[in-house]
Amino acid sequence: MKHYNIPIFISHIGCPNACVFCNQIKINGRETDVTNEDLKNIIEEYLKILPADSYKEVAFFGGTFTGISLGRQKEYLEVVKKYLDKGLIQGIRLSTRPDYINKEVMDQLKKYKVTTIELGVQSFDEEVLKKSARYYEIESVYKACEMIKKYGIDLGIQIMPGLPGSTFEKDFETAKKVVEINPVNVRIYPTLIIKDTELEKMYKTGSYEVLSMEEAIKRCRKICALIELNGIKIIRVGLQPSEDLRNGGVSVEGAFHPAFKELVEGEIYFSFLKKIEIQDGHLDVQTCEKNVSKIIGINKRNKKRLKGLKIKINNSLSVDKVIVNGVEYNRNKILQQELSECDE
Ligand code: SF4
Repeated sequence: MKHYNIPIFISHIGCPNACVFCNQIKINGRETDVTNEDLKNIIEEYLKILPADSYKEVAFFGGTFTGISLGRQKEYLEVVKKYLDKGLIQGIRLSTRPDYINKEVMDQLKKYKVTTIELGVQSFDEEVLKKSARYYEIESVYKACEMIKKYGIDLGIQIMPGLPGSTFEKDFETAKKVVEINPVNVRIYPTLIIKDTELEKMYKTGSYEVLSMEEAIKRCRKICALIELNGIKIIRVGLQPSEDLRNGGVSVEGAFHPAFKELVEGEIYFSFLKKIEIQDGHLDVQTCEKNVSKIIGINKRNKKRLKGLKIKINNSLSVDKVIVNGVEYNRNKILQQELSECDE
């Protein structure tokens, strides 16, 4: 069954924090808080266009949902409950901070049948968190994850490679800790500099160096390989482009690309195929149609770099299989090779 989110951007309400990278208004492209009436209208509008036989979740993104007063959270959840009870909506997901999870909050979320909680963990490195003005102990992340799992709610984790004080090693360590926690899904957002944030000031005064596109891809391909190899679903790589972000209106600097995940995938295939090309001197690839764009790369980048690349479409191959020069490789093999380069 096809899955759809009905996104509700609750802007900055509920969040008294000031993480250096955050300007929720700019990212969301919205400046006003959502009233109950707005929430109802947004749901109604989406229900008109989404297929009736799909799995629909109301998704509270943006601010820190559980940082809002319990009463306000309840009001929002009451609105959604009516649609859940009628079977028009199948679930509720929300994003929040690890230090805003406690028993009282969880009891209420469980009562209102919240299905997924995404925690903005960002990094498991104390120094990186401090430099990013996220003042909580790593211990509180573990506690929050454990509690969410105990309540039987799906756990999602968001991480941000490239925060102040981070290195390739620190970001990769964060990914390893995510794997140990074993959430249901992960979102990976390489750090961008958004206008009117503390990070913008740090960048302008030279105390922060943003990830180049090349470095962001390098970090993300290893992180993605590790997470995917461990059977954890990656639901997003790279910030969702709001209209403003796409038009370059709010992103000052950083590795923003509307198809960032495709860039990462392309590099994984490039490094895998390059090794075979060096060894065999040619590349005769058979793959199903769905994989062709990843293998060729965005703007035919891989095709230009792998001179002898020939692709034959073979739709009897599943998406996780590819035949190169007569040898069949599965997705795991490709990802393992990606990871082994980490150790070299
Ligand atoms: S906790 Fe979330 S909403 Fe609040 S400032 Fe940090 S990133 Fe922004």
